[in-house]
Amino acid sequence: MQTFRPGDDGYAEEIAGFQTSIPTRPAVVVAAENADDVKDAVNYAAEHELHVAVQATGHGLNAGTEGLLISTRRMTGVEIDAEKQTARVEAGVRWGAVIEAAAKHGLAPLSGSSPDVGVVGYTLSGGFGLMARRYGRAADHVQAIDVVTPDGELRTVTPGSELFWALLGGRAGFGVVTALEFGLVPVTELYGGGLYFDAADLPAVLRAWRTWAVTAPDELTTSIAVVALPGLPFLPEPIRGKHVANVRIAYLGEDGDELVKPLRAAAPVLLDTLKRLPYTDSGSIASDPPHPHPYHGTNATVEVLNDAMLAAVVEHATPETVLIIDRLGGELARRRTDGVGWDSAAQFVVRALSVVEDDVDPIRRAHAKLFDALAPWSTGRLLPFLYGAHSAEELATAFPAGDRARLKQLKAKYDPAGRFG
Ligand SMILES: Cc1cc2nc3c(=O)[nH]c(=O)nc-3n(C[C@H](O)[C@H](O)[C@H](O)COP(=O)(O)OP(=O)(O)OC[C@H]3O[C@@H](n4cnc5c(N)ncnc54)[C@H](O)[C@@H]3O)c2cc1C
Repeated sequence: MQTFRPGDDGYAEEIAGFQTSIPTRPAVVVAAENADDVKDAVNYAAEHELHVAVQATGHGLNAGTEGLLISTRRMTGVEIDAEKQTARVEAGVRWGAVIEAAAKHGLAPLSGSSPDVGVVGYTLSGGFGLMARRYGRAADHVQAIDVVTPDGELRTVTPGSELFWALLGGRAGFGVVTALEFGLVPVTELYGGGLYFDAADLPAVLRAWRTWAVTAPDELTTSIAVVALPGLPFLPEPIRGKHVANVRIAYLGEDGDELVKPLRAAAPVLLDTLKRLPYTDSGSIASDPPHPHPYHGTNATVEVLNDAMLAAVVEHATPETVLIIDRLGGELARRRTDGVGWDSAAQFVVRALSVVEDDVDPIRRAHAKLFDALAPWSTGRLLPFLYGAHSAEELATAFPAGDRARLKQLKAKYDPAGRFG
């Protein structure tokens, strides 16, 4: 196991993550290679009364700690059990590795838009992905969690245990997960991609998408993103440098072209990338940016998407802000994970995301204007899409009110010194 302290060669590379908006300077970084290294790191932190943070990819909340950072990026083991249709992955694994390994057995994981996101951070956050309306969240499929708890013990927890419940949604506050075991689904391909419209057509496109998405079958998972694309040559000419409304589609049925007819008719289509594709290419549907950058984001879940809300979205759809609306419902409304609650009544989540130039406050204010307008219909927030630094009050809204007291009680039991997360 390697360790790094400020000034050491490799220190900056080890703490570097995808999200660069929060400066971080841990006193010591442990580059863990296995569960024993994680145990040693947790025990060392206890002896020295250090705060403990953990990072696989740095896609999420950057570990803005001055204590001890456990870097799990070397823990990359993936095992597929084709008969049981399960995967067992170590803490540093990204979705792309599971997608590739599972595909060899005609299976797929409940991964999200980007294959570069870490499996553990996404799953513990309550992350949901491209097949969510058909199969629910990744957390719904977890069967066992190996975790080093703040007392330095390596435990395996399964559904029914209070620690299992707290970890699935409570994220890093209860220990460092060293491995996850979860179910896979028998999917090898889907109908997916995007329809791109000029953002000037946003009112018509939003209305058509909302009406269409509300009655769509559970086999369809869809979102709409309003984004200013860079004028770079890798982008196809019809959308290069344009402010676009991009409807993203992942459909598990056979009649995709028939299903999307009303959308294709909503406004002139600048670019249509819809086709059948192997699940191994599912990252192409959203084509998330692959390069690290500083960004800040928040979101609100809502039970309806009425015309007043659509008008608020149109008003705040500026080139400085990426707006994304995901259709929820389907299996997301039915399934209950044995983990921290999920707002099953939420039908959509509205997200805002902006690149941070130097000061995050103007971004917070711009986002607040949109979410204030949506406030009468907002029911809460989703943890995976709270990007950057947020107040404790804002973070608390990512947990259903009924679960907050139990989380607090379990936090006091498992991490009495409050050193984790
Ligand atoms: C490009 C992009 C695409 C995304 N797409 C989706 C999507 O489709 N659906 C969705 O729901 N979310 C999505 N997200 C959000 C993503 O799920 C969260 O940001 C998630 O927390 C990232 O996890 P990570 O492991 O990659 O990041 P990390 O920064 O490594 O981890 C994030 C946090 O997870 C916790 N954590 C990580 N590893 C462990 C561990 N071993 N033990 C305990 N806690 C741990 C820590 O609190 C850590 O700060 C996306 C994010 C990005 C940047």
